Amino acid sequence: MKEIKKLYDDLYSIYGDVGKWWPGTPEEIFVSAVLTQNTNWKNVEKALENIYKYTNQKDILKDLHNFSIQKIAELIKPAGFYNLKAERLKNLLSFLSIFDFDIEKMKKMDENLFRKKLLEIKGIGKETADSILLYALNKPFFVVDAYTKRLIDRIYKIKEKDYDKVQKIFYEAYPKNTELYQKLHGLIVEHAKLICRKKPLCNLCKLSSKCSFKNST
Ligand code: SF4
Repeated sequence: MKEIKKLYDDLYSIYGDVGKWWPGTPEEIFVSAVLTQNTNWKNVEKALENIYKYTNQKDILKDLHNFSIQKIAELIKPAGFYNLKAERLKNLLSFLSIFDFDIEKMKKMDENLFRKKLLEIKGIGKETADSILLYALNKPFFVVDAYTKRLIDRIYKIKEKDYDKVQKIFYEAYPKNTELYQKLHGLIVEHAKLICRKKPLCNLCKLSSKCSFKNST
C-alpha cells in the first residue's frame, strides 16, 4: 500500500506538529493506558485527579501498588469499568514491581520481551501494550486502534481488521522511528475525533480529494 506512506504528511499538513501527543509522565502513561480503555480522555483525567489526591506524581506506580483493588476501583470510578480496570492495573503494577517501578530499568529490558510480558498480563491487549511501549518507554511500536482501522478503510479501502496485519502495513510503509510513530498515531486520532468521525464530516475534510470514501459518496 504505497499511498499510506503519504498519510503522515497529509495529516501533518492539516494539524501540524502534535508533539509526543500522549500527555503525562512515563509513570502516569502506564496508568492512563489502562484507564483510557473504552472511555474518553476527560474521564481519564478525572480518575487521575482522584488518584493524585492520595499519591505522589513521581511515585504513582509504587503508591498505587500498595493500595487494595477496592481502593483503586474507588479512585478510578470516573473512568468506568472500574472494578475490571482496577484489577488490570493491579496485575500490571505487580509486573512493574519487578523493576522497582523504575522506568530506566524497564527501558533496559529487550523491548520485544517486554511486549511479550505485557501481553501475558490479564487485561493488557496489543493496543494497550503498544501504547505503553511507544509513549511511556519511547520504544518504536506502532499503535493500532479502531480509528486507525476506520481511517485506512475509508481513505485507501484497506479492509484489514487484524491488529498485526494493520501494524505490518504501517511497519512496511514507515521507517522504525519512535517519534514518527508517536506523532502519526496522534495525528490519526486527532483527525478521527475531529473530522473523520463515525459519521464523517467529509465536506470539511482537507483529505477529501484523496479519499476513496468521499469519492464514492
Ligand atoms: S473525506 Fe470523509 S471519510 Fe475521507 S478522511 Fe475525510 S472525513 Fe474521513
